[in-house]
Amino acid sequence: MTAAADCLFCKVARGEIPAGVVKRAGRLLAFRDINPQAPTHVLVVSRDHHDDIAALADADPAALTDLVQTAAAVAADEGVAASGYRLVFNSGRSAGQVVFHVHAHLLGGRGLGWPPG
Ligand code: 5GP
Ligand code: ZN
Repeated sequence: MTAAADCLFCKVARGEIPAGVVKRAGRLLAFRDINPQAPTHVLVVSRDHHDDIAALADADPAALTDLVQTAAAVAADEGVAASGYRLVFNSGRSAGQVVFHVHAHLLGGRGLGWPPG
């Protein structure tokens, strides 16, 4: 599937919903989370619709590699690469996924506890 009419992040990718875009890279888009949980909280999404990271890996493994590389580039741009950052892919409702369009949370700029909540 390449797009979903009612999907929030498909709408962001199409420019129908405004977002604080920090990077466009090929089929990927990075924008600031509307409810940031850290000084740097950027979402990295594929423009094409896939429900979650496993669906993206099955359908387009090269895009998953691009997504991780883009997240690393944004981490460098945001100045958090050296101190450390976290990439989170919530998968499924119990894990906290509420938008079923694959997205990496890039979190950084503060100490991040482990184990996560
Ligand atoms: P999930 O819980 O699905 O892993 O993450 C969804 C994320 O999308 C949440 O962190 C939430 O704050 C963010 N979000 C929800 N709606 C919007 C929106 O309209 N714009 C932006 N930029 N982020 C959003
Ligand atoms: Zn979508």
